[in-house]
Amino acid sequence: MKTLLYLRKSRAEDLSDSTGDTLRRHREALEETARALRLEICGVYEEVVSGEDLYARPEMLRLLRDVRDGACEAVLCMDIDRLGRGTMSQQGVILETFKEAGVKIITPQRTYDLLDETDEDYTELQTFFARKELKLIKKRMRRGVERTAAEGGYLANAPFGYEKSREGKLPTLRPIEEEAAFVRQMFLLYAQGEGTSAIAGFLNACGARPRRSEAFTRGAVASILRNPVYTGAVVWNRRRFLRAGGRCRKVENAPERWIVTPGKHPAIVEQSLFDLVQERLRGRGRSGGGARALVNPFAGLIRCARCGGLMQLRPRANKPGGYLLCEKKGCCPSCDFTAAADALREALLPLLRRIPLPARGEQEDALRREELLLGAQKRLAGRRARLCELLETGVYTAELYEERLRILREQEEALVGQLHALASPAAGRDAAPLSAADALANASPAEENRLWRLLVSSILCRSEDGAVLFEVRLRCLPPA
Ligand SMILES: [Zn+2]
Repeated sequence: MKTLLYLRKSRAEDLSDSTGDTLRRHREALEETARALRLEICGVYEEVVSGEDLYARPEMLRLLRDVRDGACEAVLCMDIDRLGRGTMSQQGVILETFKEAGVKIITPQRTYDLLDETDEDYTELQTFFARKELKLIKKRMRRGVERTAAEGGYLANAPFGYEKSREGKLPTLRPIEEEAAFVRQMFLLYAQGEGTSAIAGFLNACGARPRRSEAFTRGAVASILRNPVYTGAVVWNRRRFLRAGGRCRKVENAPERWIVTPGKHPAIVEQSLFDLVQERLRGRGRSGGGARALVNPFAGLIRCARCGGLMQLRPRANKPGGYLLCEKKGCCPSCDFTAAADALREALLPLLRRIPLPARGEQEDALRREELLLGAQKRLAGRRARLCELLETGVYTAELYEERLRILREQEEALVGQLHALASPAAGRDAAPLSAADALANASPAEENRLWRLLVSSILCRSEDGAVLFEVRLRCLPPA
């Protein structure tokens, strides 16, 4: 009997087994059957498919055409569901083609003759079950991936620093020494206090190239710094895919949901260094090189005039102070945060002064004032120290330093005057009422932020010819 042989492996099967192995095993089993049944094999169709769609199975389509053209009397395959998978109408196409051509389906278990009514029922039933089984296979595939990860294998694309390799049947990773050296540098630099942007710049300058883009971005660097794969671990469930409207979107799961297991591949980065970097990443801007906590009193208010995005306050690597940066890369130049905040305060303070303060009891007022003034004194002392740091680290030029110092001295003198007035016997009676400037000098960044949010609706930031311009939009205009 002239017979065509159809071999098919689905990607879902047995991940630790290579495609060649499965297909060879199936082929041997089928050849055995052919010998036993004295079938004459006159064609072999072999494919690996991942989907349900008949039209994504070119060998199956070729087989159907040959069946229709009378190339054979029977088709030999492992089981019926190797033929029929997909929608009911596609199964209909397959079964009808076999039936019309009078071609039998032979499996090692039994022979189906579609012209025999009872057999046809059986076949349809089987294909129906095969369709049900597809759901199970999808589940099995997920399990297979999880099992491979549990065994320390690595299935995804190789991350920067590694290439794909195999250990026995288990897919794993092998370091590419040239790239691995860059990965180590990234971790070291970050642990030493460099920022992700600076590291990206350094890598690009060294000629390192990421896998799927032209140059390293700070996002790409951050993603590498967070990836436990570099410690020799395997992470599963780090990302999930959301399908919406035919498009697939990658979503990062929360780290608590990651499944981290020891991998078979060698580490590029020591665990202790990795942990150090994670700590710094978690408390971004708080640690490293003595940088203090940066809180933006204008948080949520300053927007980029070009793209409308919020300007983020970012710490400087190994330096005090910070800078404002539009989140959209390369959108507009960054600017010094301290200078920006001082300029904004200076501009907004007169407006703040126009807001009438609620009347208070004299005694309470005096106490509160003393508290405020002492707080202000502390704050000014802190500013003076920071000013020196800014000069020493080269953030401020000598001229800028002199200018800031002059302003600071004026503020200090005013404060000393206020404190003297407070200390005099007439304090609380003759002293000027609590001023907005006092309130501001004593406010924490969060308190200051609440204040500005009440007064200001937005601040647009624009850089022109090296100068930074702010356009303030007020929520309300206080009475003159
Ligand atoms: Zn922008």
